[in-house]
Amino acid sequence: MNEIGLAEIVRIRTKGKSIFYTDDYSERSYYTIYKNMAQIMYDKTPKIGNNDRKLVFGYLESDAVNASAFIYKKNDYIFINCGTIVKIHDTFNKLLSNPRVFSEVGKPKYSDYRYHYDPVINNGENQTVFFNGPTDEKRRDLAFLMSYFAILYVIQHEMGHHLNGHLQLLNESDVETLEMTEERKTLEKISILDYQTLEMDADAFATSAFTAHLHSMLENLDTFPFPALVPQLSKKNMYSYWLFSVHCLYRVLGNIKIDETNLYTSRYFPYRVRQALSSRIPISVLVHLGDKEGAELYASLIDKMFRYTEEMYNITFETQTDFSDVIVTSTDKVAEHSKNVHDNWHNIKPRLMNYARAILAD
Ligand SMILES: [Zn+2]
Repeated sequence: MNEIGLAEIVRIRTKGKSIFYTDDYSERSYYTIYKNMAQIMYDKTPKIGNNDRKLVFGYLESDAVNASAFIYKKNDYIFINCGTIVKIHDTFNKLLSNPRVFSEVGKPKYSDYRYHYDPVINNGENQTVFFNGPTDEKRRDLAFLMSYFAILYVIQHEMGHHLNGHLQLLNESDVETLEMTEERKTLEKISILDYQTLEMDADAFATSAFTAHLHSMLENLDTFPFPALVPQLSKKNMYSYWLFSVHCLYRVLGNIKIDETNLYTSRYFPYRVRQALSSRIPISVLVHLGDKEGAELYASLIDKMFRYTEEMYNITFETQTDFSDVIVTSTDKVAEHSKNVHDNWHNIKPRLMNYARAILAD
């Protein structure tokens, strides 16, 4: 009788946002694809102990690129803003419309670079429609593949907050919701250093989970959903697309300017630092998976893809790289503070052990 409805729970925990209902959307809708993917990822994560909790995954009516995670009773809630799905797909559709971006893939056309008058993605179903994208099938598939990488990264980040026990730990301190980008200014019973440590851990969870996913995708290319793209999917290319995709995601998310004062006051590391730190994680994951050669190949691509992605992103969106932001990621202060966060992991890990359902990092 006193059960509070889903819409109400979501409204309270997301500061007044409404659910965007996609229940009647077709199997081919992006919203359905990501929703199903989230459930598969949640079920597939190797668990420690029993997980008697359930994932509730949905979308919020908001154009802003963001995602939130919260718990209520026995359920793990993840709600992604609609804007996240649309903006990420639009970003990669636009990038792959640019003939200079991965020009060796398919047949790039200069006319793609302008807006189309007919929708590029429209299967006559209840789907999101994009008016901007490459006409070439391979390039469109690649745009989708990279959007999928980026969106999965966002979902896995939120899943890390759940499965590594962050939200249950925060619940001890009355913190209700974690969001992907929002700055929290209120004083709570948890330190900024703890927040930063949890955010870093969620990034690490997402990166590790995705590296394992990529590894198995490469071993099962015969079942890859876009057959036309398969000849293109060497290990080297896959790693390059992955680096490109996550780098672009951070450019899309990046709104916190680096400055040495907010290094200690923001809940998040500046996005350049998050990106720099998470881009190195797959090296150790691949070694752990027994793919030393893959780890070396991946490591050899990081800097090259960094420069390539910055250049392509800037040309496509007429933006510029703020090199003061890039340089500051390698300053002593940032290195020292990253070390503090890493050291703090050893304080926070024993507290998470009570709640974690996935294997925590060393
Ligand atoms: Zn987070």
